[in-house]
Amino acid sequence: MDGRTLNFCCAGCLQVYEFLREEGALPRSPGSESQRTPAKPAGATRNARLPIIGMSCANCAACVERSLRAIAGVAQATVSLTEAQATVRFDPAQTNIAQMAAAVRAAGYDADAAHAAETPAGKA
Ligand SMILES: [Zn+2]
Repeated sequence: MDGRTLNFCCAGCLQVYEFLREEGALPRSPGSESQRTPAKPAGATRNARLPIIGMSCANCAACVERSLRAIAGVAQATVSLTEAQATVRFDPAQTNIAQMAAAVRAAGYDADAAHAAETPAGKA
C-alpha cells in the first residue's frame, strides 16, 4: 500500500488530493470535521451562493467544500455537484466572496464570483 491505489474519477481530483495531503489539510479521520463545533461568529453571518466551474464528480465537490471550510470566517460550506454551486455561511467581517473564489481556484477549480449571490443569513 503506497497510498496511490485510491480511485479517482478524474485527474483533477487526484491532483487536488495530492496537494491537500502535502499541505496537511486532510483531516485525520473523516468523522472529526463534522463533530467539531464551528466557532461562533462575532457578527451577523451571511449566506453566499457561488457558482463553481470545473467539477466533474462528487470528489470534486468534496474538494471544493474542504477548501471553502478551511477559510477563516466560513461557518458552513456545502457544495452541490448537480447545481454546480457552493452555499457558504460566513462572517463578512472575516472573509468575502473574492476570498472564497480564490480558495476554489487554489484547489484547482474555478468560481464565478461575478454571479455570486449574497444574502443575510437566517432568512433562508
Ligand atoms: Zn472529480
